[in-house]
Amino acid sequence: MSYDSNNIFAKILRGEIPCIKLFEDAHTLAFMDIMPQTDGHALVIPKEPATTLFELSDEAAQACMATVRKIGNAQKKGLGAEGVVLMQLNGPAAGQTVPHFHIHVIPGSIADLRKPHATVMADQGHLKAFADKIIAAL
Ligand code: 5GP
Repeated sequence: MSYDSNNIFAKILRGEIPCIKLFEDAHTLAFMDIMPQTDGHALVIPKEPATTLFELSDEAAQACMATVRKIGNAQKKGLGAEGVVLMQLNGPAAGQTVPHFHIHVIPGSIADLRKPHATVMADQGHLKAFADKIIAAL
């Protein structure tokens, strides 16, 4: 799949549109999902341009998983999440809506994900309050 450098996450990586950032290192960025499925729902993306897991380098995949672990641990510690669900969609046929590889890191249970995916825009102050708790636990 050819990479579209105008996708929304590429714009976030270039700083062209804002995000509520949780963590950044040389290879990855973690930020709040704008339409969370549970409170504290975060996204981890590689800086490498890749549409799906199948184009991503092994090195970038490894860097993403290290960041996922950091964020998940901070959700457990900072939000008291007993469970953390990972979701990762590859291709429109799977339901992927943003064509830059990403891993959803969702505090809670699979049973909380009954809300339809990516539909309700959260209030920025609400997102920021949960982000602050995650950041404090990093
Ligand atoms: P996908 O459906 O591709 O697995 O997930 C894309 C996710 O990106 C959705 O959960 C959606 O809420 C989130 N999203 C879409 N646009 C934006 C945006 O502009 N900013 C942020 N922070 N998240 C977004």
